[in-house]
Amino acid sequence: MDFAEPEEHRALRAAVADIAAKFGPRYYAERAAARRPCAELWQALGDAGFIGVNIPAEYGGGGGGLTELALVCEEIAAAGTPLLLLLVSAAISAGMIAEFGTGEQRRAWLPGLASGAVKVVFAITEPDAGSNTRSISTSATKDGDDWVLNGTKYYISGVDEAQAVLVVARTGQDERGRRLSLFIVPAGAPGLEKHLLPVDLLLPERQFTLHFDNVRAGPGALVGEEGEGFRQVFHGLNPERVTGAALAIGVARYALGAAARYAAARKVWSEPIGAHQGVSHPLAKAKIETELAALMTRQAAWQHDHGVPAGESANMAKYAAAEAALAALDAAIQAHGGNGLASEYGLLPYWGLARLLRIAPVSREMILNYVAQHSLGLPRSY
Ligand SMILES: Cc1cc2nc3c(=O)[nH]c(=O)nc-3n(C[C@H](O)[C@H](O)[C@H](O)COP(=O)(O)OP(=O)(O)OC[C@H]3O[C@@H](n4cnc5c(N)ncnc54)[C@H](O)[C@@H]3O)c2cc1C
Repeated sequence: MDFAEPEEHRALRAAVADIAAKFGPRYYAERAAARRPCAELWQALGDAGFIGVNIPAEYGGGGGGLTELALVCEEIAAAGTPLLLLLVSAAISAGMIAEFGTGEQRRAWLPGLASGAVKVVFAITEPDAGSNTRSISTSATKDGDDWVLNGTKYYISGVDEAQAVLVVARTGQDERGRRLSLFIVPAGAPGLEKHLLPVDLLLPERQFTLHFDNVRAGPGALVGEEGEGFRQVFHGLNPERVTGAALAIGVARYALGAAARYAAARKVWSEPIGAHQGVSHPLAKAKIETELAALMTRQAAWQHDHGVPAGESANMAKYAAAEAALAALDAAIQAHGGNGLASEYGLLPYWGLARLLRIAPVSREMILNYVAQHSLGLPRSY
């Protein structure tokens, strides 16, 4: 077993960190406060080949895997510039189109996704279904060669920045429940309405409720096989969990770095406040939790890239990383005293992101359910 990071991964980390540092936490805080996307950073990373690092080279991507995409997520977040849409557009949508899309869909979408010019967001959550994905009611019915979509999705991130939405819809019923399928629908399709869903997080990315009112999609909109959406989505959700974990780890490292610098410099008695164990121990504990989560995240990404079942590791990584990020942010804010809440120190936007990562893309409780049932063999409770 070799734990040394390969030279190309170290170089990737350094190159991504270099670009992100040109934008930095101040840029992120301003965009978060204004709810404006970090478009310039996205494009700079796209131009350098990092947004599409996991997309096959024949479609203009970097030819890497989830491991490389997770490194990109970790490094941008560690520089104070986390990009939430990497979890949906790069990890889920690009991953699923590359894996399950037709040749035509790949040629149509992957080059733009790889260059950063195109974003495809992901819509699964519904007001009445939530964590219970199998009970979604958005439907796609056949009308001649076309599909007609009806229903409502909510909390869909980044629709305002995207060219298309990858939608999970019900296409029938079988003995196991609803048959789910995946469709790629242009964000401006007639009958698709978006309404801003205000959230009190300080995030550059905005969330929307989407209404599908007889949205007509051609036969080329179906991604993968009809009725195989559940299996396909699960394949795509592991990358979302792994990149979510990577983002959380980066955010934790950013916060711990800021807190350590502050606690080493700030003096209110004769010693810097970092000399007090009441200040240093919570930071040290969060550091340990962050590095443990990083190891599990690497394992999950490696498993996914090697075709090894990654569900357990991806869930554990996402759980551990979100908890570590919250612990890191809480300790960092506390170490800053009143300054921990000041706009000038900019910590609260990252706390909000870490708090979100405890809920989404899959909640802490649903991960505990998964581990209780699948890892420990305990009965399912719901
Ligand atoms: C800022 C933001 C961005 C988002 N972006 C997207 C996006 O781009 N695309 C998308 O499709 N979705 C998105 N989501 C939705 C997100 O994935 C869901 O919020 C999340 O999966 C939880 O679903 P829910 O909100 O319906 O909660 P619910 O399913 O209603 O759950 C509520 C609470 O009950 C708990 N709970 C539910 N069932 C059980 C059970 N069986 N056992 C124990 N506890 C349980 C949950 O853990 C949670 O704490 C986003 C959400 C937010 C807040």
